[in-house]
Amino acid sequence: MSYVLVLNSGSSSIKFQVVDPHGHTNDAPLVSGLVEQIGEHSGAINVTLRGGEEIREELEIPDHTYGLERAFEIMAANKVGPTDVDLIAVGHRVVHGGIVFSEPQLIVDEIEAMIEDLIPLAPLHNPANLDGIRVARAILPDIPHIAVFDTSFFHALPPASALYAINNEVASKYDIRRYGFHGTSHEFISQKVAQLLDKDPDEVNQITLHLGNGASAAAIRHGRPLDTSMGLTPLAGLAMGTRSGDIDPGIIFHLVRQAGMKVDEIDTLLNKQSGVKGISGVNDFRVLREMIRAEDQDAWLAYNIYIHQLRRFIGAYMIILGRVDAITFTAGVGENDTEVRQDALFNLEMYGIKFDKEANLVRSKEARMISTPDSPVKVFVVPTNEELAIARKSAAVAESAREAGLY
Ligand code: AMP
Repeated sequence: MSYVLVLNSGSSSIKFQVVDPHGHTNDAPLVSGLVEQIGEHSGAINVTLRGGEEIREELEIPDHTYGLERAFEIMAANKVGPTDVDLIAVGHRVVHGGIVFSEPQLIVDEIEAMIEDLIPLAPLHNPANLDGIRVARAILPDIPHIAVFDTSFFHALPPASALYAINNEVASKYDIRRYGFHGTSHEFISQKVAQLLDKDPDEVNQITLHLGNGASAAAIRHGRPLDTSMGLTPLAGLAMGTRSGDIDPGIIFHLVRQAGMKVDEIDTLLNKQSGVKGISGVNDFRVLREMIRAEDQDAWLAYNIYIHQLRRFIGAYMIILGRVDAITFTAGVGENDTEVRQDALFNLEMYGIKFDKEANLVRSKEARMISTPDSPVKVFVVPTNEELAIARKSAAVAESAREAGLY
């Protein structure tokens, strides 16, 4: 059995999974884990084995290299280290691929430099992704490393949705356009939906709703992206756990002029202190739901804004798609929160959406339909698995690299 190590490196954390790229969506990874609070006094490494056994080690983790090496040692002590298994690739999640990367890339020094060049477009994400790449390449130099970009799927957005109505010269000089994010997830679940409908992806028109802590919507026509809610950065679109989503850009000027706020403060305000959390104080929908039950007015307001914004995008995407075959919910909130799904699609029978309230209440880890069988627009819940998608793409690139004699 061959495996891919999938790494998602953040500024103070590294998430990892060792995945069978030929496995199924719901297969548990061979081993998964999280290195957290890198660079702080109280760090921790959590490793979960396939059988469910969890190992937690609390220690100071000065940097990414130390954290990843220690995680590999813990894995090796349990016979699932990188040299204990047939590791065919290391797949790295990279948030921003800019205009240059429409496909996953075998990482060589030149590609690493190009990812570095993209830092101005994703100052919050790409530097950490790059740290992970450098550290992992140094520790595992003989294995192909592949960068899989969150933006790639949306590289094919048509100009009318990819470009903003702002001054052309400024936009091209500074690479300002809609890049879109969560692309690996939207692509993965849209392909699954085509399977569920027993059609080719290029026959299906669909709306995919990735509702996690970050959230985005996509309109996909004939297997290709037509529009998506995130933009130059992941801040745009739907109201999210801690991000505002779409706001009047004039609010930023207002905050600069009237509140004397600096750019970084506004960045933090809109990315980390807004969205559902900014209104209710919490970003976890399980807690939000309890607060709503306890009649907390801020929680209720936060939820209503979230649903309103979601319905706005669903409506807009139905019109730009013309014909819609399916609407699909995925990620933490989309897969688990029955009320979000019901409220997002409430009272839309006249648009061909016949929501099945009973089916919606069924809890399952499997992909499932939650519209009535005769509903013209089918509604699905499809668990996403970005790690598996990254593993599959990485395995394919690694195989080509081997065939080309590079490894
Ligand atoms: P993700 O970013 O896809 O991991 O989603 C994380 C978010 O999903 C959390 O912040 C919660 O708001 C939400 N979530 C996870 N599990 C549940 C659940 N059982 N019910 C409602 N929301 C959930």
